Amino acid sequence: MSQASNIESVLVENRVFPPPAAAERGARISGMAAYEALCAEAEKTPDAFWSRLARENLAWTKPFTRTLDESNAPFYRWFDDGELNASANCLDRHMGTPVEHKTAIVFEADDGAVTTISYRDLLTRVSRFANALKAEGIQKGDRVIIYMPMTIEGVIAMQACARIGATHSVVFGGFSAKALQERIIDAGAVAVITANYQLRGGKELPLKAIVDDGIAMGGCESIKSVLVYERTLSDWKRIEGRDKSFTEVLSAIEGQDECVPEPVGAEHPLFILYTSGSTGKPKGVQHATGGYLLWAKLTMDWTFDLRPDDVFWCTADIGWITGHTYVAYGPLAAGATQVIFEGVPTFPHAGRFWQMIERHKVSIFYTAPTAIRSLIKAAESDEKVHPKNWDLSSLRILGSVGEPINPEAWMWYHRNIGHEKCPIVDTFWQTETGGHVITPLPGATPLVPGSCTLPLPGIAAAIVDETGKDLPNGAGGMLVIKRPWPSMIRTIWNDPERFKKSYFPEEMGGTIYLAGDGAVRSEDRGYFRITGRIDDVLNVSGHRLGTMEIESALVAKTDLVAEAAVVGRPDDVTGEAVCAFVVLKRGRPTSDEEAKKIATELRNWVAKEIGPIAKPKDIRFGENLPKTRSGKIMRRLLRSIAKGEAITQDTSTLENPAILEQLGQAF
Ligand code: ATP
Ligand code: MG
Repeated sequence: MSQASNIESVLVENRVFPPPAAAERGARISGMAAYEALCAEAEKTPDAFWSRLARENLAWTKPFTRTLDESNAPFYRWFDDGELNASANCLDRHMGTPVEHKTAIVFEADDGAVTTISYRDLLTRVSRFANALKAEGIQKGDRVIIYMPMTIEGVIAMQACARIGATHSVVFGGFSAKALQERIIDAGAVAVITANYQLRGGKELPLKAIVDDGIAMGGCESIKSVLVYERTLSDWKRIEGRDKSFTEVLSAIEGQDECVPEPVGAEHPLFILYTSGSTGKPKGVQHATGGYLLWAKLTMDWTFDLRPDDVFWCTADIGWITGHTYVAYGPLAAGATQVIFEGVPTFPHAGRFWQMIERHKVSIFYTAPTAIRSLIKAAESDEKVHPKNWDLSSLRILGSVGEPINPEAWMWYHRNIGHEKCPIVDTFWQTETGGHVITPLPGATPLVPGSCTLPLPGIAAAIVDETGKDLPNGAGGMLVIKRPWPSMIRTIWNDPERFKKSYFPEEMGGTIYLAGDGAVRSEDRGYFRITGRIDDVLNVSGHRLGTMEIESALVAKTDLVAEAAVVGRPDDVTGEAVCAFVVLKRGRPTSDEEAKKIATELRNWVAKEIGPIAKPKDIRFGENLPKTRSGKIMRRLLRSIAKGEAITQDTSTLENPAILEQLGQAF
């Protein structure tokens, strides 16, 4: 089937892919009737539904008697008189079961070296490290910053904090000293766990030195110790009395291989994670232990339909929420074998992901649209890194997270990676939701490219207007979740007022969770499609246009466009004007004349796909787009560029600052 003939418009997606019989057979949620039955149970008897799941899926040291406490809404509390330990739920509970000697982690380093560790050995390593933390004076309730590369040790650090009841806050290894300092201060952290260096794409990049710089910026007096994992043989500068290597702290507790997990209340903060900051000052999203872990475990089972012999690979860094829920906690709580990868997808070549799937016989692969799009571009320009060069037959389920996946990228993923037999779960969620909230189920949901389909059972997602009134299918509005759910954000650390204002606006009654994303439900199936963040809706001559829709239209011009981002800028005539940033497959135009010609072609294309009103007024070409290290397009920055403003925001998380200049010129 030709791709183009199948697309009437990117706005009306007609292709539907029912679950393959093999995926439906034996699935934990098999068929739509099973899904609907769970939804009905959650709606009719929410208390019984959630308490049943919490009892079945978690090991409690003290059983809870209350399910949901709404008395201080929107500060909801779940299972709050129960006690448990997250690390015990990820490790100890598997002892004496077939999982004990199963491989927990297959670690592939930047240079391709592979290390594996069983659940039994992981428990011992976590226990030792937890004892080392205690020996350093770190206690239940203390905050600990983790600034580590993707390694088994990174996961051990998180699990060890959880084991002693310390609240971790992982800071992504690409963040600057300033970002680190702000987070240390905001969290009031007592320790930093870091590494001397990290390895990325064959290069050694400092971590410890950045910690030193961050602390030296001032205000970090709360930090009593800095623990350093020696990832490489290179030297690092030691500040006496404060800094110790892992080897030193571990030899100090030599022989103490067991550590009784500290029971904590279900509402005890398991971690604080600062959101990536695509839209403003980072918020310290606080998650609770019980509800969060329940959802991490349950979504492994539901969304990924995890089975005992699966090999699960989520490519996200532990510095992001995806690396928390689907690397550090979910897979372990569910007893999965998982792959952890240290490097970058393009090193030593852009076929690395496909090669790793073959090498480790990965059966569930979970990555981000930005990675998929860049690997499509690479595969189309170099046969040698095309996925067809590797055996991907072990794959069973594919996943996508982080951004809407354009239908074009979805189709490529479906054909070239899934070989048309693997369901793609396009999982919509946020740091704040703790785990998936709207997603297809591989053994049940008929898929529509570009749509995250339907809410998970128990998630009361809806689309409303500014006053909180429900909108009919087909009408675009704001995505909300009307009822609390266990893994929801508990508060913004240190800023309960901002928590209420950001997520539970008074105009909507103060108890409904506002996601901050725009969405629309399809007329036929009621499927959700995310249209972009609320701030990304443009008003051109009175017409409301989702930037995401224009982006999808541009990317659907497959002979020309690799990637596109659309923002608005003020315009005297139309109120707002559409400004498109485009990465071409063939590279940047070499002359102004060529640029103008392509710009005209793209404008006409958008006019045809969506309507003349959506035609970009400016088109700018870059060899890349400005992205955060988590791969998200920095729209705030693009808005400034579109307006011609001087750039004042922090660009330290930019992967490639050089492109800002290219994007200055509009055609
Ligand atoms: P900040 O809130 O600081 O701006 P962020 O929102 O980028 O940062 P995350 O919590 O990591 O930080 O990302 C959640 C957002 O990512 C969602 O609100 C949504 O905009 C987008 N997103 C994630 N998954 C999907 C998906 N499957 N489809 C569409 N959008 C998605
Ligand atoms: Mg956000």
